[in-house]
Amino acid sequence: LETKEEYEHKTLAQDVMRPRPSDPLLVVLTQEGMSVGEIEGVMADTDYSGFPVVVSQESQRLVGFVLRRDLVISLDNARKRQEGVVSASLVFFLEHVPPQPFSGPPVVKLRGILDLSPFTVTDHTPMAIALDIFRKLGLRQCLVTHNGRLLGIITKKDILKHMAQMSNRDPDSILFN
Ligand code: ADP
Repeated sequence: LETKEEYEHKTLAQDVMRPRPSDPLLVVLTQEGMSVGEIEGVMADTDYSGFPVVVSQESQRLVGFVLRRDLVISLDNARKRQEGVVSASLVFFLEHVPPQPFSGPPVVKLRGILDLSPFTVTDHTPMAIALDIFRKLGLRQCLVTHNGRLLGIITKKDILKHMAQMSNRDPDSILFN
């Protein structure tokens, strides 16, 4: 039988990250091309606390991470305070918004609420190391990549649940004891 320590060193980020292979795909936003209505739709369909922002669905190259609460506030504000913003208005997380046709509705710029350096590990990072980083930096979530492609996300709760499963312990007693 393996000791607990041996087991912890063998557990990798890919064993804890979501989505699990049988789950629906990771829900991401793209840095350009989505409308206010589409992003509101994504938020209505899911209850995640945040969303990775990628260059494109095809590339899955990570640009940053945006919190749901910041998105809600910013889109509400844009609709209320920014003249002419409608569901069809395009949302840009880019620094430089490309010139838009004069006929379209005004765009919404959300670069300001993007965390441009979200913490990331690779799928093969041992969880012992990831856990150490979570503790030391007080992270709430961390993104998982492979060769620069975004694969998944690990939240603090995911780790607590995983560890509790491993040891049949109370999740709350693990991370901050
Ligand atoms: P918490 O884990 O604290 O409840 P969330 O509500 O953000 O935080 O996440 C709930 C679950 O969904 C977690 O297992 C997490 O890994 C996963 N998750 C978080 N964000 C996303 C996302 N954008 N796409 C898919 N799964 C996600």
